Amino acid sequence: MNFPFCQKLVKHIFVKTESTDELLKQLQKKAHSINKKYDPRCEFMRWRDSKEGKMWKKKTWISQNRCCAICHQKIVLKGSHIDHIRPIAKYPQLAVEKQNMQVTCSHCNVSKGSQVEN
Ligand SMILES: [Zn+2]
Repeated sequence: MNFPFCQKLVKHIFVKTESTDELLKQLQKKAHSINKKYDPRCEFMRWRDSKEGKMWKKKTWISQNRCCAICHQKIVLKGSHIDHIRPIAKYPQLAVEKQNMQVTCSHCNVSKGSQVEN
């Protein structure tokens, strides 16, 4: 048996495995950031926190007579929610579609969850 050759081979495999693991880690990091960028919920949150999103919410809240679109109770803008009429979970393509959004109280938005309103 060629002992030095085996030793060299094992060392080589070990080094390659380590560098492959490192590359895999980097790829996973990249995949995670790409997924985050294109995740519909993240896309919505970026829009919601943008100047345009904030302006849309205020305008819509005023057009709804400062009421929740579901229970019709008066609500304050701060703490109100943007509800997706057709939920993001089932309609990710409508995540930032304004016609699919309404301003609601937190209770209505949370209790509605991922149900589709008829
Ligand atoms: Zn409500």
